[in-house]
Amino acid sequence: MKKKGFSRRKFLTTATAATIATAVSGPFKSSASGIEILNKRHDKLAVLGGAPVRAQGPIGPPWPYVDEQVVDAVVKTTRSGVWSRIQSRDGTVPAFEESFAKLIGTKYSVGTGSGTQALSTCVEALGIGPGDEVITSPYTDFGTISSILTSRALPVLADLEPDTYQLDPAEVEKRINKNTKAIMPVHIFGAACNMERIMDIARKHNLKVIEDACQAPLARYQGKGLGTIGDVGCFSFQASKPIACGEGGAVVGNDEQLMDQCYTVQNRGSNRKGSNATIGPKYRMNEFEGAILMGQFPGIKGRFETRNENANYLRAVLKDFKALMPQRHYPGTESGAYYHFGMTFNRNEWGVDRSIFLKAIAAEGVSLGSYISYQLHREPWIDHILGLKSYKAMYSKSRLKEYRESMDLPNCDRIIKETMVSFAGSGTLLASRDEIKKISDAIMKVYENRNQLKSV
Ligand SMILES: *Cc1c(COP(=O)(O)O)cnc(C)c1O
Repeated sequence: MKKKGFSRRKFLTTATAATIATAVSGPFKSSASGIEILNKRHDKLAVLGGAPVRAQGPIGPPWPYVDEQVVDAVVKTTRSGVWSRIQSRDGTVPAFEESFAKLIGTKYSVGTGSGTQALSTCVEALGIGPGDEVITSPYTDFGTISSILTSRALPVLADLEPDTYQLDPAEVEKRINKNTKAIMPVHIFGAACNMERIMDIARKHNLKVIEDACQAPLARYQGKGLGTIGDVGCFSFQASKPIACGEGGAVVGNDEQLMDQCYTVQNRGSNRKGSNATIGPKYRMNEFEGAILMGQFPGIKGRFETRNENANYLRAVLKDFKALMPQRHYPGTESGAYYHFGMTFNRNEWGVDRSIFLKAIAAEGVSLGSYISYQLHREPWIDHILGLKSYKAMYSKSRLKEYRESMDLPNCDRIIKETMVSFAGSGTLLASRDEIKKISDAIMKVYENRNQLKSV
C-alpha cells in the first residue's frame, strides 16, 4: 500500500481526537477504551488464520423484539374476539393510531397492512393516477416504486448523492415536467433526505410530497419528525424495521380532509360514515398487528435512543476516516432511526474490492453487508409497464422512450456495486457498548493490516 491517502498515524490521531471530543460532549463516558482499541496491535487477519476480534455470531439482541408484554397483548386480543378494527372503536388499531400520531408529532395517523400499502394509500388519496408522474429514489425497497405503479402512475427515478445515498435535489428538479404531481423522498437508513431543498422544489413547482419514512420512525430533522414535513408521511412495521409487528404500516399527517381520504382508501373505498365512496383496495391493519405494536410501545423511545447513542459512538470513531465514511447527514439532522448503519467504502484506501474487505471483516466476527444488490432502475418491471396497454394509452410514445433512457443512474450504480457497506441497526445497535466497539475494532484491525488483503 502506497503512502498516499490516509496514513495509519493520521487515522489514530483523528479517531482519538473524535473519541475524546465525544467524551466531552456527552454519552461516551467509556471513551478511554476507544483509545485502547486504537492502540491494540494485531498482526494477522483472521481470514488468513489469525485470531479473530470476536467469536462468530450476531451482535446485539435478535430482531424483531419480543417480550412478555408483547405476547400478553396478542393473547388479550385473541381472547377479546375483536380481530378486525371495524368490530370496535376501542380496539388495538385505533389505540395504536392515536399513540403513533402523538409519538411522531402529527394530528392524525391511519394504520395499514404494510409500508407499501401506506404509500399506495397516499398516492391514491392524493388523486394521483394514470398519466401522472411521481419522482422518487432508485435506492429503496421495491415497495416505494410499487406503490406508484399500483395507481398506474409513472415512477420517475432520480440519481443519488454518493455519500448520503439520498435523492439529489438537483436531479429531482431536472425531472419535473407538466405531468409531475408529487415527490416521494425516501429517508434511507432512517436519516433525513435534504428536505429543505426538496420542500423548496415542491413549493416552487406546486407538487405534493409523500415522505417514505418507512425506515425512519422517530428520526428528527430541523426540529421536526421525519414523516411530518411533507403532505403525508409513511411508515413500515415489517419484521426488520425499527418498530415491527411482522407486516404493518401507517400514514401520518395533519390535513384532516386528506387523512380522512387515506382512511377511506385503505378501507376499500368506504368512508368513516359507511358510505362506499371511492376506489380503494382493502389495506386495513388487523387487530393482532395493532396488539403487537401496542405491546412494544413502552420501549420504543428507549430503543431509539440506544441506537442513536451507539450509532453516534461509531460515527465519532469513524469521523474523518476516509476509508470507510459513515453516511453523511444533511445539516439539521438531529437523530436517525438507523434501520441500517451505512458507510462508504473507498477502494483506493484499501487497495482491494469491497467483497474482499467484507470477507476479511466477517472472519473477524463482524459481519457487514452491502444492503440491496438489485438495481431497481434495471429490473424487469420497467419493460413490463412499457408493454402495458394502460401505460401506452396514458403516456406518449416519446415520453416512454425518454423514460426508458432516463434509467441511467451512475451514482446509484456505484453505491450498490462498489461503495455501500452496512449492517442492520434494529437489533445490532441495541448491543452493549463493548460489542459495538468490536465493530470499529474489527474495521481498524483490517485497515491496519490491509497489506494482507491482497493475499485473501
Ligand atoms: C420497508 C420499506 C418499504 C415497504 O414497506 P413494507 O412494510 O415492507 O411494505 C418502503 N420503503 C422503504 C424505504 C422501506 O424500507
